[in-house]
Amino acid sequence: MQTHKISIPVILEVGTDKLRELDRYIIKAGIKKITVFLGEGIRELFGETIFRALNENKELELLADNDCDQNSMEYIMGKAFSIPSGTEAIVGIGGGKALDVAKYIAFLNDIPFISVPTSTAHDGFASSGCSLYINERRTSVHARMPYGIIVDTNIIKNSPEKFIYSGIGDIVSKVTAVFDWQFEEQQGVTRVDDLAMMIAKKSVNSIARMPYSDIKEDFFIKELVDSLTMSGIAMEIAGNSSPASGSEHLISHALDKMTKTPQLHGIQVGIATYIMSIVQNHRYERVRKFLSDTGFFNFVKTLRLNAEDYEKAIDMAPSIKPNRMTYVHVPEFREKAKKVIYEDDILNQVFNVV
Ligand SMILES: [Zn+2]
Repeated sequence: MQTHKISIPVILEVGTDKLRELDRYIIKAGIKKITVFLGEGIRELFGETIFRALNENKELELLADNDCDQNSMEYIMGKAFSIPSGTEAIVGIGGGKALDVAKYIAFLNDIPFISVPTSTAHDGFASSGCSLYINERRTSVHARMPYGIIVDTNIIKNSPEKFIYSGIGDIVSKVTAVFDWQFEEQQGVTRVDDLAMMIAKKSVNSIARMPYSDIKEDFFIKELVDSLTMSGIAMEIAGNSSPASGSEHLISHALDKMTKTPQLHGIQVGIATYIMSIVQNHRYERVRKFLSDTGFFNFVKTLRLNAEDYEKAIDMAPSIKPNRMTYVHVPEFREKAKKVIYEDDILNQVFNVV
C-alpha cells in the first residue's frame, strides 16, 4: 500500500500589495526571527516597503539582510553556515536566483524557507527544486518545498515582460509533460500518480481556457501565479518532477548545458512544448493558440534564437534523464521533432528560417 508524505506551504498569499504586509503573514505562521536574502536591485526597488514592514513590527526580529547577486554553489557555501544563530526562517525576496539561493541555504540549515517572488518566470518559487550554478553551468538540485509563498501581484505585473512570457511558457509545458508521463506509464517505466496528474492538468487548463484581453490584467497574473503554484504542488505530491516536466524540459535542460547564454527557462520550455505537442499529436492547437494569443510567439521572435541549437538539444535531451522514457527518448520522435522546427510556419518565424 502506498501513502503520501508531502509538505505543502503553510503560508499561501497571492494578491495585490502583499509586500506591505509581509510581517503579518510571517508572524501569523509563528515565526519571529528571520534572515532575509534579497535579489539584485530589490533593495533599491522595494527596500523601503520591505524594511518598513519587517522593522516596524515589534513581534518580528530581522536578524540579517543580505544582497545576493549570484547563485553559484561557492557563494551559497560561503553564506549558508554563517547566518545568525536563532534564525527561525530564511526569507528570499527577488527573482529566481535569490529564491534559489535562499531556498538552498534554508535547506542546508534545515529551517523553513519563505518564498517572496518579484517575478514568476517559472514554477521554482513554489517547488522544492533549485537551479544553481555548479561548475559554471545551470544545474537542477533538490531542496525542500517552501514553507511560505507570498506573492504581490502588483509587483509581478510590473516586472519585465520577458519574465511573464517565461512563466507562460513554463505553465503551458504541463500539456506535454503529463502526456509524456502517461506515455511512460504505458511503457511500464513508471506509475502515474493520479492526483498529481489531475492537479498538473488543471493548472494549465484553467489559465489556457480563461478569457482575458491583456496578460497584464490582475486576473491573468493571479491565475498565472496560482497555476505555477499548483504545478509546484503537483511535483511535491508525485515525489518527482514528472507531472511538471517532460521532454520539453529535457530539451531546455540540454540547451542550458550546451549554450553559453541560455534563455530564460520558460522561454526555452515554451518553444520546446510547442514542438513536442506537434510530435505527440496532442493538443497542439491549444498550445499554439495560447502561445499566439498571449503574445509569447511574437516576443520570442525578437530573441534571434538558433534552430541548430534546438536540433542539438533534441538529440542531447534523453541523456539528461536516461532512465525516463518520454517522447524525446524515442529516436523516431526525435527525428520528427527536428523536422518540425523547419516545417512549422510559426517555428520558421521564431527561428528566422527562410
Ligand atoms: Zn519548468
